[in-house]
Amino acid sequence: MYKNNFENYMNLDIYKDIEEIRAALEHLGAKKILLQLPDGLKPEVYHYFNYLSANYNVVISSSPVYGACDIGPSSIYDKVDAIVQIGHSPMPNVKYPKPTIFVEHHYNARISNIDTSLLEGKYDRIGLLFSVQYKEVADEVRKIFENKGFTVIIGKKDGRMAYDGQVLGCNFSSVHSISYDVDAYVLVSTGQFHGIGAQLSTEREVFVLDLNDYKLHSMKDEADKFIRKRYAQIFRAKEARKICIISDTRIGQRRERLARIILRQVQQMGLEGILAVTDNISNQDLENMRCDAVVYTGCPRVPIDDQQKFTMPLLTPAEFEMGFVKNSNRYVLDEIVSVDDPADK
Ligand code: SF4
Repeated sequence: MYKNNFENYMNLDIYKDIEEIRAALEHLGAKKILLQLPDGLKPEVYHYFNYLSANYNVVISSSPVYGACDIGPSSIYDKVDAIVQIGHSPMPNVKYPKPTIFVEHHYNARISNIDTSLLEGKYDRIGLLFSVQYKEVADEVRKIFENKGFTVIIGKKDGRMAYDGQVLGCNFSSVHSISYDVDAYVLVSTGQFHGIGAQLSTEREVFVLDLNDYKLHSMKDEADKFIRKRYAQIFRAKEARKICIISDTRIGQRRERLARIILRQVQQMGLEGILAVTDNISNQDLENMRCDAVVYTGCPRVPIDDQQKFTMPLLTPAEFEMGFVKNSNRYVLDEIVSVDDPADK
């Protein structure tokens, strides 16, 4: 059995993955497959390729893949019988044009204690959230909180999510669904984006559990800093005369209908607007088109994480609405609930 201790994939067992993939492919009768790996797993690509090539014609995607929203371009997936994506959970309401097998990786850790001093005497009912790789850790966390006397509530997913309690950078339905039932949230995840996103989607305080020291960190200050930065971009965008609205062609990010609505709004305001499609938004392309500002309807993380790569302000649809339509001072995080049907023209 091939085992690996790769830092971000502590529980990686490639043999188990291969068995799972083989069983699913056998069931489908697939012969030619597209294999997608997240960047953290790419060093293992030779192992996956060698094992699977014994029985299947395998095409590897070398492009980055950040979620189940992306199965690559149709020029590739049209030529295979099935797609295999490692490391992500499925998006049930996305209509994949080919059978798509998602092989999830769940990190697990035995946790003996969590420092809950920030919550004690202040909050009783805790909404527990997790990003998918920490689903099993969240089970451990729930037991610890319950043993300490907290009431733990798990929020309901919507059609874009695989699990109750799960969060994605583009969807916080598990937060909204219990916002009247809890006093605060605890999120098991890494990095700050999911924590900031969860904090922006609720009035309740959100804490991220740091898995290095098992301490909780409030997201309130980070969310405030984030809002200030985003309002600076919204104000910049309000100076624009030429606005490009982008629809991303990735299957789980395609919101062209929304992009067309925004285009009409831009034109009704007397501004110049265009609608463009891409699967690889780039500053150079936008500069070539002389765009003063951009509204990007694909992954909400792009305007937020990658703004520094662009010379013009890049807004989410929700930010456009705040700055141009409603002139609102209440920041709203862009979330994707559903996307266009791939059959829509
Ligand atoms: S749209 Fe963005 S945040 Fe949502 S799953 Fe895809 S990459 Fe992740």
